[in-house]
Amino acid sequence: MGRTVDSYDVIVVGGGPGGSATATRLAQHGRRVLLLERDPFPRFHIGESQLPWSDEIFRTLGVEQAIAGAGFVDKWGATFITSDGGAEQYADFAVAPQTPRPQTYQVSRDEFDRVLLTHARATGADVRQPAQAVDVTFAADGVTMQQFNEGAGGQVVFHLHVHIIPRKTGVAMKPPASAKEKPDVLAEQAKKLAAAIAAG
Ligand SMILES: Cc1cc2nc3c(=O)[nH]c(=O)nc-3n(C[C@H](O)[C@H](O)[C@H](O)COP(=O)(O)OP(=O)(O)OC[C@H]3O[C@@H](n4cnc5c(N)ncnc54)[C@H](O)[C@@H]3O)c2cc1C
Repeated sequence: MGRTVDSYDVIVVGGGPGGSATATRLAQHGRRVLLLERDPFPRFHIGESQLPWSDEIFRTLGVEQAIAGAGFVDKWGATFITSDGGAEQYADFAVAPQTPRPQTYQVSRDEFDRVLLTHARATGADVRQPAQAVDVTFAADGVTMQQFNEGAGGQVVFHLHVHIIPRKTGVAMKPPASAKEKPDVLAEQAKKLAAAIAAG
């Protein structure tokens, strides 16, 4: 059993495209970001068919070249077929509205997710993998998250102290322990936090 304490501005749980993109963007803005991904990569994941609007996000994240160079199949449109095969319709990205570039990719998610996660790490996010977030505790001065690792060294539990949100916004993140069953309390908390962030 090992133990360490670290401070981050944000902890992102999950290193799929959503988590990687979030971690990358926050790191680009100078935030100290920890990303926990429970599975070693590459790993299978469903969801391989991209739309051209994703390209704009890749560009914003600075990962466009890495995606373009990963050897994915070029995709210029998609054919939709009814389950009985009786009807089909081709959607051509070239005639779709607001499409800056009518080409995207059919990806294998194992490689696609690896590219995005590698980019998040290169941008400055502290990516830990395999590392499963198992518990989170809210307190007035921050959030403590526990991470579980199973490896050659056995179990390791990290306590990660996160304090940027209360410190930056002045909003005490202190939902009661029973908040899970009280969506109105959480909604009120989220509203206060959003207002504080908007106010800078
Ligand atoms: C049948 C099906 C077909 C689909 N087809 C498409 C498609 O063609 N095109 C498309 O764009 N989308 C498709 N999708 C949707 C697509 O799969 C999702 O939108 C996408 O994977 C969501 O990305 P994400 O990063 O939010 O979550 P995920 O990709 O699911 O990533 C979540 C990550 O979090 C990790 N994780 C979970 N819990 C923990 C924890 N406690 N601690 C640490 N890590 C954790 C997981 O290991 C995982 O890697 C499809 C979905 C389904 C179900």
